[in-house]
Amino acid sequence: MRQKRFILAQEDIPKQWYNIQADMPNQAPPMLDPVTKKPVTVEDLAKLFTLEASRQELNTTDRWIDIPEKVWELYTYYRSTPLVRAYGLEEALGTPAHIYFKNESVSPVGSHKLNSAIPQAYYCKEEGVTNVTTETGAGQWGTALSYAAKVFGIEAAVYQVKITFEQKPYRRAIMQTFGAQVPPSPSMSTRAGKDILTKYPNHKGSLGTAISEAVELARMTPNCKYALGSTMSHVTLHQTIIGLEAEKQMEIAGEYPDIVIGCFGGGSNFGGISFPFMRHNFSGERHTRFIAAEPASCPKFTRGEYHYDFGDEAGYTPLIPMFTLGHSFRPANIHAGGLRYHGSGLIPTQLYKDGFIEAVDINQTESFSAGIRFAESEGIIPAPESCHAIAAAIREAERCRETGEEKVILFNLSGHGLIDVPSYEQYLAGDLVDANLSNESIKANLDEINKQIVL
Ligand SMILES: *Cc1c(COP(=O)(O)O)cnc(C)c1O
Repeated sequence: MRQKRFILAQEDIPKQWYNIQADMPNQAPPMLDPVTKKPVTVEDLAKLFTLEASRQELNTTDRWIDIPEKVWELYTYYRSTPLVRAYGLEEALGTPAHIYFKNESVSPVGSHKLNSAIPQAYYCKEEGVTNVTTETGAGQWGTALSYAAKVFGIEAAVYQVKITFEQKPYRRAIMQTFGAQVPPSPSMSTRAGKDILTKYPNHKGSLGTAISEAVELARMTPNCKYALGSTMSHVTLHQTIIGLEAEKQMEIAGEYPDIVIGCFGGGSNFGGISFPFMRHNFSGERHTRFIAAEPASCPKFTRGEYHYDFGDEAGYTPLIPMFTLGHSFRPANIHAGGLRYHGSGLIPTQLYKDGFIEAVDINQTESFSAGIRFAESEGIIPAPESCHAIAAAIREAERCRETGEEKVILFNLSGHGLIDVPSYEQYLAGDLVDANLSNESIKANLDEINKQIVL
């Protein structure tokens, strides 16, 4: 009988993360201090992040980084996650392609975010930190960090982007169940929040704004660190557990992917599934295509510009080389909250420049239509973010149907959408429209950063 699911034995779960920075043909230019314009150091980063996360962030030499034993043990509570052959979807599409997905939705909190929340909370504990702050878009990262902080006895405060605070009240309730404080952002509790609300009283928030608020609180609170759920290189490092497992699982399945796809917010789940495979492209031994699926309403790769920019709206973060829509870009209120971020992470940025990554943009309605085809044929309701990866996979599988090619397609199912069913309800009722993002509005934002950030 054909095998649908591939699971690793506990002892085969990888014990190290893969640090792609050690293998990249070209290193990314450094992050810069916005005042001195000098490269940021581990010491600079460690004012905000844990020391270990700061070291990992700038580590360009160690290819393999040990997963601490306690973190690995917590990983084994839900890993390996299944690699699944999507026979149902293949049949529904009538494609000769072999479609696989890595199911990160089986983590206790429902997404890949826990893979980085556990080590980040662990490093807080190890370094004697008592409080951690963060921001959350769709609520997935906030949920993961709230739980991980609770496991290690650390207090968490999570600024949730207001639009999702209102659209997804259950996520807030889950974070509160894990004991976290959850203010909606922009809030009046920080200067960054107050400034934005004074200028735009109806501001529904963005990840950029929420980051500013969480950073400000971390700076003002003693013994408090800030943690990020995406974009940073140490976060993507932790997520490589996804691709390292997938590599072993594909081997059991007797296949190797021709195409690897992930939805793209800041790049952590995309990098997590891609980077372990990409190292074989660097060596010339494989020619896999890597496709980042971004939302058409927040298209930093396909329509943004390569530029040094801030990671947040208020300009508290270092300057980071990225494909950006401008740090004050206000994306449409799409349901894939985790993809509403203006820029790409430092590593995927360089890899995109160097031609190792392709990007596609997907409209919201196409993403939900793809998510429903997947739900009907595989029985899993995908997160609205993951629907973008599914849509990109379906496009490739349909191309195979036309050409007759039996390509092996692997995509990451970054999370489930069981808490996002109101979004599906709106889609099914025909209430979702695609935002029309004009070139003029993109250009206006980019002109702004070109004026503001001169190196
Ligand atoms: C946060 C999130 C994303 C986007 O973040 P990346 O860092 O780009 O992975 C995608 N899918 C889900 C389910 C998320 O929670």
